[in-house]
Amino acid sequence: RGREREMERSVKKGRIVLVPLPLHGHITPMMQLGRALSLKGFLITVVQVESNQVSSWQHFFSFQLVTIPESVSVFQGEALEPAEYIIRFNKTNEAGLKDSISQLLIQQGNDIACIIYDEFMYVCGAAVKELKLLSLIFSTQTAIHKVCCYVLSKIDAKKFLIDMKDPELPNKVVEDLHPLTYKDLPTSGFGPLERYLELTREVVNNRTASAVIINTVTCLESSSLTRLQQEIRIPVYPLGPLYIRASSAGPSLKEEDRSCMEWLNKQKTRSVIYISLGSLFQMETKEVLEMAWGLSSSNQPFLWVIRPGSIAGFEWIESLPKEVIKMVSERGYIVKWAPQIEVLGHPAVGGFWSHCGWNSILESTGEGVPMICRPFQGEQKLNAMYVESVWRIGIQVGGEVERGSVERAVKRLMDEEGADMRERALELKEKLKSSVRSGGSSYNAFGELVEYLKQSEK
Ligand code: UDP
Repeated sequence: RGREREMERSVKKGRIVLVPLPLHGHITPMMQLGRALSLKGFLITVVQVESNQVSSWQHFFSFQLVTIPESVSVFQGEALEPAEYIIRFNKTNEAGLKDSISQLLIQQGNDIACIIYDEFMYVCGAAVKELKLLSLIFSTQTAIHKVCCYVLSKIDAKKFLIDMKDPELPNKVVEDLHPLTYKDLPTSGFGPLERYLELTREVVNNRTASAVIINTVTCLESSSLTRLQQEIRIPVYPLGPLYIRASSAGPSLKEEDRSCMEWLNKQKTRSVIYISLGSLFQMETKEVLEMAWGLSSSNQPFLWVIRPGSIAGFEWIESLPKEVIKMVSERGYIVKWAPQIEVLGHPAVGGFWSHCGWNSILESTGEGVPMICRPFQGEQKLNAMYVESVWRIGIQVGGEVERGSVERAVKRLMDEEGADMRERALELKEKLKSSVRSGGSSYNAFGELVEYLKQSEK
């Protein structure tokens, strides 16, 4: 702590401008990065491009907030697939972004140390080029995901689509990405492949960025980070998990129902399955019902986050029959949004049923909780594959969700097989915690980043 204070004093207080992608799973780690940098003496400005999602951080950590005028997307209301949405979102906001950053420069008397932008806000790279500002890319995903993007960005879309018709191809190893097979590539769930490949090309284009900051940890992804470094050819700073590094998870962007903590206090040690499918994904009522039956018959207590809007076509749980809600509330507890990190750190929690968003995996691993993986789209499937086969701290539930498979998965995780996974998860927890402590890989990477930013200020 003494050394940290010394460093804080020695930093010239430059301003760092953060540009997150306005989605929950991207904003939170970016704000945590901002928090960690502010502890080193930097002043933080956040440029938000849509709605008022980060205002809670402004109050909590005195971040300056700049909103791009008229940035609410012109295609609001249109149901766009993710790749299409991100590509159009970047185009729509390019001019507004450039104007806002130019205005900031005037306001701050040019005292801006650098811009750090989410890899999916790639249009920033073009905006800052003209303004001759130092820029860094921030990736909220894994190193292996970024490596896959590099490989995919070089693929000929037409040929790839024809090749994919070969029933053998999905199980073949991707030359260059051993041991990943074609079916592991994170291409599904983003819309038409051509559009997704276009997005990967935008994401891997470093433009003028001089370094990449990534929310991953060397002990989880050592070889992928080496490979990424070979592809990327600019410094890569793996400094995750940022939620630990920031020394506070920060304020939640959604209202948390803390009553679940009292409910957890009444449960036996390591008996509860926590279920959360992240901030975006939706399930059909049929799937939710199968989950409810399967969870109830597993005889294990469960804490279930059902986000408003997460059951397709309904506001909340009104589509579930009353007897199902009664059955669920006998064994479980439903909330609209939970304080996830605290939940995972609670001694009563024994397993996490997750959609395998990268933040959720980092949080589960950081708290030593084994997982049941139920990924929805490409990059989550890749994460789930790593959880199950590389780190061996979870099991995957594939195919259609039906009550029998839910019950079996919960039982597997809570019995002997689960005990081995829990042991490995606890070992990884210790490794992650030490990576952010003095001398650890993420601690060192963060120190190098701060040095780099200080040097660039001179
Ligand atoms: N989260 C939370 N409470 C909930 C559900 C999720 O705080 O009830 C947080 C969780 O801690 C994580 C984020 O939402 O930081 C979800 O991010 P992730 O990358 O796992 O998935 P995404 O939402 O991007 O699909």
